[in-house]
Amino acid sequence: MPRFVIFDLFHTLVHGADDERDRVVAEMAAIVGVEPAALVRAYHATWRQRLVGWDAEQTVRILAERLGSSPSRARLARAAALRVDLARRLLSSAPPATLDLLDSLRAAGYRLGLVSNATAESAQAWADCPLATRFDAAVFSCELGVAKPDPRIYLAAVEALGAGPGDCVYVGDGADGELTAAAALGMTVFRTTEHNDTDPSWPGAVVATLADLPRLLPTRQCGW
Ligand SMILES: [Mg+2]
Repeated sequence: MPRFVIFDLFHTLVHGADDERDRVVAEMAAIVGVEPAALVRAYHATWRQRLVGWDAEQTVRILAERLGSSPSRARLARAAALRVDLARRLLSSAPPATLDLLDSLRAAGYRLGLVSNATAESAQAWADCPLATRFDAAVFSCELGVAKPDPRIYLAAVEALGAGPGDCVYVGDGADGELTAAAALGMTVFRTTEHNDTDPSWPGAVVATLADLPRLLPTRQCGW
């Protein structure tokens, strides 16, 4: 009987580090010659474009130009490198208990997928992070060109796992309406509050820590 669990990434497997992201963007502003708060606002205002298109260097170029600066390519590269470094740090910050959970699920026969609304630097950092080898499939919005809650991003992971949506459990903090969309596809959904209480209105099951997940997963006896 196939058993599949699909996870969100930020605020689910690793902390989303929203404050740290803003701090890094402010540091980048100094490199490309724009006002830090204005660049932070510009990053926030363009999150959808960054999730499905622009890469790290393209983003800082476009936004710096919109704010009236024309930084050199060398400065753009230096600024973008800070975002890439941040992505590497974040993706390497999964708690040991989370890595143990993933290992125990795989040992129990589950196949694991990742569906992440992520910018290009996160997808780039994925291959070298400790999470990557624990997953059978990983789908990033920046690579697919669509983001959650669009059903196509879930179905890309489902297909890569060789599953059907109804065979899958989905676990996420609830950003971007991801839980409702996963449930609409027929997945069994758990909201996690381990890193952030993102979607308190979610009426379904909640886990305070991912370590609680195994005892809540459907068993073969109840229909898997
Ligand atoms: Mg999330």
